[in-house]
Amino acid sequence: MKLRVRVDYATYSALKEVEEEYREVLEDAINYGLSNKTTSFTRIKAGIYKVEREKHKDLPSHYIYTACEDASERLDSFEKLKKRGRTYTDKPSVRKVTVHLDDHLWKFSLDRVSISTKKGRVFISPTFPKIFWEYYNKGWRIASEARFKLLKGNVVEFYIIFKKDEPKPYEPKGFIPVDINENSVSVLIDGKPILLETNTKKITLGYEYRRKSMTTGRSTKDREVRRKLKRLRERDKKADVRRKLAKLIVKEAFESKSAIVLEDLPKRTPEHMIKDVKDSQLRLRIYRSAFSSMKNAIIEKAREFGVPVILVNPAYTSTVCPIHGSKIIYQPDGGNAPRVGVCEKGKERWHRDVVALYNLLNRAGDVSPVPLGSKESHDPSTVKLGRWLRAKSLHSIMNEDKMIEMKV
Ligand SMILES: [Zn+2]
Repeated sequence: MKLRVRVDYATYSALKEVEEEYREVLEDAINYGLSNKTTSFTRIKAGIYKVEREKHKDLPSHYIYTACEDASERLDSFEKLKKRGRTYTDKPSVRKVTVHLDDHLWKFSLDRVSISTKKGRVFISPTFPKIFWEYYNKGWRIASEARFKLLKGNVVEFYIIFKKDEPKPYEPKGFIPVDINENSVSVLIDGKPILLETNTKKITLGYEYRRKSMTTGRSTKDREVRRKLKRLRERDKKADVRRKLAKLIVKEAFESKSAIVLEDLPKRTPEHMIKDVKDSQLRLRIYRSAFSSMKNAIIEKAREFGVPVILVNPAYTSTVCPIHGSKIIYQPDGGNAPRVGVCEKGKERWHRDVVALYNLLNRAGDVSPVPLGSKESHDPSTVKLGRWLRAKSLHSIMNEDKMIEMKV
């Protein structure tokens, strides 16, 4: 968060002095890194600290540390750009300097912020905008690192960084198993399986088709083609779906103090899971967005909310009957219900995703009985993408369904 503060001349010139010497240290640090072929903070600091300390006797010593860190970051990103052929100079140029501060160099209080200079501490008193209070009052913590930049007219631009402490995961009172597939994500809530359509595979194939039709016979370097491709925004749209779904699931788990149970997906599975797609590149893309990115989105969101996640062995989760332990036979040709199979022993019918949900629950250590032969076990309620995208919570979807059932 950027805060602009006008200060008096004495304060400004004390900070100006720091900025100038910081720039010198920064330039030396960058040159050291370049000539010693290193971007490592520790190596740069070890290499120049003594000399810089001599050169800048009254400068608080931590500025040398933060300048070395700054240099290491600049060298790092310069290397990355260079690899992609995006650099126009042979070394990173230091045009604008933003002075980095660590916890020794500044102190925060709501009345004033103090910054160390060669002449002791100076104080600036920012007025905090509304957004500051929103963060400050909602459990965000002010990080120990900060920055300042000097603008014209005695104005200091001060950067405060807010960090959120992750809450500690709670002791779960129940489980929400989540089964991830190429076109849907299924969850079991209060013993009720729900299948949420994501259509990841369909969407990816659709984009692929459109991309092909845009580029056949034309170069992708063509400006018009490039603009059209950009407008597809496939990645953004899929990430949006993932984020929203992860939030719905995690919120549900958080409110019922449950743990989320996920398959610990093995690394090499796109071949298995998306057999019908011939193009291996495309298969990998579907796999990534449907399985691994979805899983990561849920794990990330869960961490943010302190919802525990249990990863279980994925082997045979959809082929073993959760009641009889016997094999479930799916029609090899699929038929008109390719995801519905029959238990070898009890002859009851099962939807593949529901089987997976109960088996995940079981592997997480839940021992509550599995309902036998209910309609839901082979015909779970399916929620279309557009519908859950608009929903406030998974519970609100379930309640709506209940209302419809009652009317019927
Ligand atoms: Zn069975």
